[in-house]
Parts: sequence; C-alpha cells; structure tokens
Amino acid sequence: MDKSKRTPYFNRYFQTTTPRSIYSVVEGSQYRPCQNLSTTCQYKHVFEMEFYVTALDAEKTIKHIASIRLGSHNLEIETGRFNNVIRAQRICKLCNMNCVESEYHFLCICPAYSSLRRQYIHVSWPTLDKYYRLLSTKSNDCYINLANMLI
Ligand SMILES: [Zn+2]
Repeated sequence: MDKSKRTPYFNRYFQTTTPRSIYSVVEGSQYRPCQNLSTTCQYKHVFEMEFYVTALDAEKTIKHIASIRLGSHNLEIETGRFNNVIRAQRICKLCNMNCVESEYHFLCICPAYSSLRRQYIHVSWPTLDKYYRLLSTKSNDCYINLANMLI
C-alpha cells in the first residue's frame, strides 16, 4: 500500500469497523492484554497507528518491525505456545544461557546474534527499558536498522 494512503486507510478502517466501546476498553485501565501481547503493552500506551507505519517507505521493513512488535515470528516464545510448551521451558536453542527465547532475549541478550546486534542496533548493557525504547522509537534510522537485523 502506498505510504500516503496508510493513514486514511487506518482511520477509515477503525472508524467504520470498530465500535466506540472498544476504543474505551483499550484505552481504559480495565484492558487486560492476552499473554503474547503483554510485552507490547509495556511500550504501547495509546491506541493509534504507530509511527513506523507512516514513516517508513518499504512495506517489507514495516512487516518485519510489526512482526517482532506483535509476536508474529518464529521465536520459541511463540512457537512453544502452539506446541503447548509451558512459557518457562521455551528455551533458546541457539545459546547456552538457558533463557526463554523471547523478543527481548533475541534482540538484546542472545550471544548468537551479538555481531548482528553490534552492526545494527547498538544495544550495550541491555535492559528492558532500552528494549522498550528500541521498539517504540520515533527514529526512521533505528527502525530501518532494526528491520535489517530481522531480515
Ligand atoms: Zn539465545
């Protein structure tokens, strides 16, 4: 979809198909995310179209960013869900840290990706706060580098 058409499409879609009550539930304090979006809720606080959807040109880049933000990927944290593996046993198979292969582990911790991490996202001394800032940045360059790591 053409970049200039994304905002009108988003607005039209959500204004015509989403009941007003859903907005209030999502934006209200009663909102309880499903487990695979619990991380997303740590850095997404407003129900609106994300910066990267309109700021980036390449749809491929947008898809990679969206997949890691929304848990639509092949990391153990998600594939284990489909195979009925309990969350604590969805261990990364690429390193010996015996950690759950979450998005945070993949992007900020796992030594198997350290060279890609150094090349693209430059996260030293990883913390959850840095991870949340990485996924909610308003920088085109940060998102492009992140997408390059994900490709
Ligand atoms: Zn690992």
